[in-house]
Amino acid sequence: MRLSIVVPCYNEEPVLQETTVRLSAVLDSLVEKRKISSDSFILYINDGSRDMTWTIIESLHDRNSYVKGLNLAGNVGHQNALMAGLMTAKGYADVLISIDADLQDDVSVIEEMVDRYKEGYDIVYGVRSSRDSDTFFKKNTALAFYKLMSWLGVKSVYNHADYRLMSRRAVEQLGNYKERNLFLRGIVPLIGYETTSVYYRRSERFAGESKYPLSKMFNFAIDGITSFSVKPLRLIASLGFLFLLCSLVAVVYTLYVYFNGETVAGWASLMLSVWFLGSLILIAIGIVGEYIGKIYLEVKERPRYNIEKFLN
Ligand code: UDP
Ligand code: MG
Repeated sequence: MRLSIVVPCYNEEPVLQETTVRLSAVLDSLVEKRKISSDSFILYINDGSRDMTWTIIESLHDRNSYVKGLNLAGNVGHQNALMAGLMTAKGYADVLISIDADLQDDVSVIEEMVDRYKEGYDIVYGVRSSRDSDTFFKKNTALAFYKLMSWLGVKSVYNHADYRLMSRRAVEQLGNYKERNLFLRGIVPLIGYETTSVYYRRSERFAGESKYPLSKMFNFAIDGITSFSVKPLRLIASLGFLFLLCSLVAVVYTLYVYFNGETVAGWASLMLSVWFLGSLILIAIGIVGEYIGKIYLEVKERPRYNIEKFLN
């Protein structure tokens, strides 16, 4: 059984050395236990880094027989880079594990993932059993996001990011999901093969900085929602109906006041409703725009990534 560990890297020069040491040690021990074959490999995907990441990958490839490298032409983002890696590695491996470069995900559960695969599972999710290393803010926004997603009817595994094992046939299936706007942890559960989870403690980044600052995180969440659910569009219509009812009440009240000859004090309430409804309308247009933007991006069918070089 040939295993491939797929690692997207964007400006990861401070961690790659250590990541390679740890991943190689795991591969060594699995090879020794005869759980995987010795031609298993680590595939680093350089996602258009602006530091020395690719040079480091090249030198790691020269020195370490496990290391292969894929250089993308430009930065396409974590999800697309991961897809590039999976689509490339599946030609050479029976089982693929995706993991971040920064060692936040505990590599020692790789063995457990492989064991689960051997028991017959096609997909094994790495799930964080705790979020100790996250800030209060991140913990709660993440929780709200998962809650929102499940309310919207999107199946996704709680506290699972992109650390997972997939069999080759599962990755083949993944390749059939053609959307440009990738949200892998939403797509993978749709594949439908037998799945299970292994648990680990997520630690701090080994070195370097998070490539997901708040603004990117927010965009990622919006993408995740709008790529998987049209419920927000329906919500707008419901909101419209609700306000129609309210305005009917307001009309009746206004007419009543008018015919009784009382003056409408009105200015404050007018201002409030103009502002309130105005912002609601803007939000509604924004939501619709979000989907139209998505349609626009999808119909172009641009490639998700371009490969510059493959060090095999
Ligand atoms: N990454 C990438 N392209 C990008 C941004 C990030 O390939 O444009 C990689 C990054 O190198 C890392 C993984 O995606 O291996 C996750 O990023 P990070 O650890 O910064 O995210 P966080 O764990 O903070 O959410
Ligand atoms: Mg990280």
